Amino acid sequence: MNMPQHAAPIAATFDLAKIRNDFPILREAVRGGRLAYLDNGATTQKPESVLYALDDYYRHKNANVHRAVHDLAERATTAYEAARDRIAAFFNASREEIVFTRGTTEAINLVAYSFLQPRLQAGDEILVTGMEHHSNIVPWQLIAARSGAHVVPAPVTDAGELDLDAWRALLNTRTKLVAVMQVSNTLGTINPVAEMIVEAHARGIPVLVDGAQAIAHLSVDVKNLDADFYVCSAHKAYGPTGFGMLYAKRAYLEAMQPWHGGGDMIRTVSFEGSTWNDVPYKFEAGTPDISGAIGFAAALDYIATIGLPAIAAHEHRLLEEGTQRLQNIKGLRVIGTAPGKAAILSFVMDCAHPQDIGTILDQEGVAVRAGHHCTMPLMQRFGIPATVRASMAVYNDSEDLEQLERALVKVGRLFG
Ligand code: PMP
Repeated sequence: MNMPQHAAPIAATFDLAKIRNDFPILREAVRGGRLAYLDNGATTQKPESVLYALDDYYRHKNANVHRAVHDLAERATTAYEAARDRIAAFFNASREEIVFTRGTTEAINLVAYSFLQPRLQAGDEILVTGMEHHSNIVPWQLIAARSGAHVVPAPVTDAGELDLDAWRALLNTRTKLVAVMQVSNTLGTINPVAEMIVEAHARGIPVLVDGAQAIAHLSVDVKNLDADFYVCSAHKAYGPTGFGMLYAKRAYLEAMQPWHGGGDMIRTVSFEGSTWNDVPYKFEAGTPDISGAIGFAAALDYIATIGLPAIAAHEHRLLEEGTQRLQNIKGLRVIGTAPGKAAILSFVMDCAHPQDIGTILDQEGVAVRAGHHCTMPLMQRFGIPATVRASMAVYNDSEDLEQLERALVKVGRLFG
C-alpha cells in the first residue's frame, strides 16, 4: 500500500475494543492488577502487526542488505527498501530524501554535524524555543561551541505556547537555522510550524522540525509543510525502539558531506581518497537496523488503517475527559494549557513531589512519567523541578483515566 498517508482509507467506525486487542501488552498484569499505560510520550506499545513483521523478518528473511547475491539477502533487501518506500509515501517524501537513523536524536545530530557545522561562523545563531527537548538543544550547543555561535531560545508563555511575536523578533541575519518541535512532549502544545517555516523561509533560513511527538497524532506531509529537515522516531508511533529517520530536501542531502564513514556509504575506497554513494545511502554507514525499518513501515500501516483523523479525534476526547477528571483533584495544577493541544496532561500537586506521585500511581497500575521529561529549560521557565505526565495514545480508554483519577485521590489521601 504505497499511498500517502492522507490518501489512506479512514476506518468508518473507531473500534476501541478491537484496537486494544491489537496490543497484547495491554493484557499484562502490573503490580498484580490492570495496566493503565499512560506513558506514551516516552514510548508507545506495539500492535500485533508490528510484532508479526519483526518476527517474520527474522524467521524468513534475515540476511545483510545490499551485499550478497543469495535468496535471503534479496528478500532482506527487498523488504528493507519496500519499507523505505512505505515510510517515504507516508510522509509524502521521495525515497532518496529519507535517511534512516537510530531515532530523532541521531537525526538531529546528523543535521548538526553534516549540514550546519560547516556553515557556522562566530556570532551565528541557531534559533530554538524554550520548550525544546534536550535532543533539540544539546547537539546545537555542541557545534555552536566549536564555532563561537549561539543557541538562542524563544520564550514560552504561561499557557505553554511559543511567544510567536518574540520568536519572530529573534529572527535575524545571523540566524542560520530554526529548530522547533512540532508537538511538545512535556506540555502537548502544538507549535504553528507551517507558519514558522513560511516566515523563516522569507528570510532565507532553513527549518528543522522535530516531529518525535507528532507523527502518531497529526498528519504530516513534508512537501506541503515545506520543512527543510523533519526528524522522528519509530518507537513513539507504535514501531520499534532505536529506529527513526531524517527527511531532508534532496538538494541539502546532495550538498552535505557524510557524517559517519564505513561500509555501504561509499562508492569507491582507495588510500588516495574515497567517493560517496548516492543519497540517502551516503548517510547510512554500516549494517542498518533492517528489522527496525520493516517494523516502522508496519507501524505506519497500522496508523493509516485506523486513520490519523480518527486517532486524533479519539485522543482529543480522552484529553477532555482527563482534564475534567484532574479538576476533581484538590491542589493539582496542570502545566501547559495551550488551546488545541495534543493529548498530554502534565501536572504538579501541592501535597507531593512528582516522583512520589509517580510511585503511588505505579502501585495502582498507572504508568506515567515523573521528571523533567528532557526539558530542563522548560521546567526552569515554570519554576518547577518536574511534573507528572500522562500522555495518551490510540488504545487508551476511559478506564485508564478513571484508574488515574482513583490513584490521584489516593495520593491526596496519603500526602494531603
Ligand atoms: N524530541 C522529542 C520532542 C521527544 O519527545 C523525544 C523523546 N522523548 C526526542 C526528541 C528524542 O527521541 P529519541 O530518544 O527517540 O531519539
